[in-house]
Amino acid sequence: MQKKLLGLMVGMALGGASAAHAAGVTEAMIEKNATDSVLSWGMGQGGQRFSKLDQINTKSVDKLVPAWAFSFGGEKQRGQESQPLIHNGKMFVTASYSRIFALDLKTGAKLWKYEQRLPEGIMPCCDVVNRGAALFGDLVIFGTLDAQLIALDQNTGKVVWKEKVGDYAAGYSMTAAPLIAKGLLLTGVSGGEFGIVGRVEARNPLTGDLVWTRPMVEGHMGYKFDKDGKEIENGISGTVNKTWPGDLWKTGGAATWLGGTYDASTGLAYFGTGNPAPWNSHLRPGDNLYSSSTVALDVDTGKIKWSYQSTPHDGWDYDGVNEFITFDMDGKRYGGKADRNGFFYVVDAKNGKLQNAFPFVKKITWASSIDLKTGRPNYLAAGRPGDPTKGEEGKKGKTAFASPAFLGAKNQMPMAYSPQTKLFYVPSNEWGMDIWNEPVTYKKGAAFLGAGFTIKPNFDDYIGAMRAVDPKTGKIVWEVKNNAPLWGGVMTTAGGLVFYGTPEGFLKAVNAKTGKELWKFQTGSGVVAPPVTWQDGDTQYVAVTSGWGGAVPLWGGEVASKVNFLEQGGSVWVFKLSSK
Ligand code: CA
Repeated sequence: MQKKLLGLMVGMALGGASAAHAAGVTEAMIEKNATDSVLSWGMGQGGQRFSKLDQINTKSVDKLVPAWAFSFGGEKQRGQESQPLIHNGKMFVTASYSRIFALDLKTGAKLWKYEQRLPEGIMPCCDVVNRGAALFGDLVIFGTLDAQLIALDQNTGKVVWKEKVGDYAAGYSMTAAPLIAKGLLLTGVSGGEFGIVGRVEARNPLTGDLVWTRPMVEGHMGYKFDKDGKEIENGISGTVNKTWPGDLWKTGGAATWLGGTYDASTGLAYFGTGNPAPWNSHLRPGDNLYSSSTVALDVDTGKIKWSYQSTPHDGWDYDGVNEFITFDMDGKRYGGKADRNGFFYVVDAKNGKLQNAFPFVKKITWASSIDLKTGRPNYLAAGRPGDPTKGEEGKKGKTAFASPAFLGAKNQMPMAYSPQTKLFYVPSNEWGMDIWNEPVTYKKGAAFLGAGFTIKPNFDDYIGAMRAVDPKTGKIVWEVKNNAPLWGGVMTTAGGLVFYGTPEGFLKAVNAKTGKELWKFQTGSGVVAPPVTWQDGDTQYVAVTSGWGGAVPLWGGEVASKVNFLEQGGSVWVFKLSSK
């Protein structure tokens, strides 16, 4: 800490702290992950969401007060799932309906705003959200609901380049923050509910030019691109028809809708993939690679280094998109993943070998356990909804009760890992669903599910539970229950704290070792986004966006009606310790 302050003082002597950081963002800066900025989603490429800052700590956090707040304005509210980025005296924060703002870090004053003109026909499955941007050079880059990438000048907000990633009329959209890895811009796509083909793309972040593409459905060709943008075949993902029957792989889903993480020590980028399409699993016998998996990509070549499938032959829309967070354990590098399907997986980050898997929610009905030898789930047959061609319930297949519900034991809200406590902090939900299958055929731009469902709470007194999870023992060390389903991400700090938000509107700080609540603040609408922290001069700040929405009000069935009293909003809050 002393060294850091000295560095800042030298910077100031040379003409102000910001001048020392005025140069464009580089890969080295992103990998360094210094505490005076937040340069990537995940608060570091590996997504640990851990900060070394400790000015705000278990003893001082009760003095945390607002520094400023900013309203996203307009008539457009809905879910605000965005994580702000901090660089060079500015905050870059995206908002619902594909908006992005640059704000003065000291005052919260608006510097510029960009709002994408969205066409009528966009088809975001799960609200008009955006989860954040990426910084590289002098650019800030984000994806839009009409499946475009927009790169803006950080200082002026002017568009520098714009690239169409997918056809929004076919169901493609973008909601995840892009990832910078080895100087490339890596992005996924949303749209698994419309039979799109999930893929990861690498681009030159300064120009938007494609470098490689890697499809996430087995059978599709990957490509690389030469200097002139000429497409060159770069190998099929897997083998045609090996895990997919007939032609269904052509509209196979596996959307990479939550983006990825990167670990410089392995050189691999880790992307989670969504459900195979359609949801009705009886139409597509086989494992349906690479759906509902973690896929490790060689960033240099765009080839699949390994994949681990958490839900082979997914019949519940469990997806597998959850963030893969790398961490050290027993001298080895692993990745931790709290899957929508209710199991927490610990996987060797280098080769994808399963090390440990255990439940992090109370009720799982689709599988009894995960076989640590084969890495495969031990399915419970009664948990899979029936085949509609068997006609057990008219045109419907037999209804099954499945837990977790498809909204997941954990959804988009990213967890955090503390190297200090060696615990993962997992925002989890306890809910199940009645689910049944129906006949379906692919039609461009139409929902491609072949399933119906009703989500219901598993318990009367709570749905959400913030849980501290020990990846080594599989034990839940502590939990804090929450009435509404948790939908916001988590941050943990060297100050011994865990920060997270609730749909009821609170940003909370709890003791990282015990879960004891130490501070809370009402932000005026539900918090469904992850907090961040940084240091400016000698002051530590915390920020979070506020604005209730996301998938729960749209898809939540009985749960949605339970939380329909919650009001929408759209703002970002910044906090620091009171000087009093
Ligand atoms: Ca899905």
